[in-house]
Amino acid sequence: MSSEEGGVTDVGNPTSVTLRCSFCGTLNKVDLRRAADRPKCGDCTKPMLLDRPVKVGQDDFDRTVLESDAPVLVDFYADWCAPCKMVAPLIDEIAHDQIGKMLVAKVDTDAAPDVAMRYSIRSIPTLIVFDGGEELERSMGFEPERVRALVDKVVA
Ligand SMILES: [Zn+2]
Repeated sequence: MSSEEGGVTDVGNPTSVTLRCSFCGTLNKVDLRRAADRPKCGDCTKPMLLDRPVKVGQDDFDRTVLESDAPVLVDFYADWCAPCKMVAPLIDEIAHDQIGKMLVAKVDTDAAPDVAMRYSIRSIPTLIVFDGGEELERSMGFEPERVRALVDKVVA
């Protein structure tokens, strides 16, 4: 499946991501550049929704976020967190505006405590930009201008 053995980058498909279908839960490989073609789940044939943040959990974080060929913005949040609700529209807007260029994901820290611990999430909301499986930068709290600047930098 991986075509990056020996450090050879597959330049033909630089925006491939593995996403869980929000309907049936099957992991699908999706080319973000083809988002406008409304890719469908290979299993249940329902649409893969790419114009909004995708929910990522403990079991698919590595495959979806760390193995993504495209940069990923991850929103670490919790349902009970009031400032997280201020960040949510910003995340929705970025997912919509950057469709095809980056993946926007949400991690519920209550449902994924191991992931939150791995990235030392001490307060929420925390937004982290990943590229090539590495954390590039993070923003804590509600910092829309900083987050937009980070996104512009990583998709440029
Ligand atoms: Zn499906």
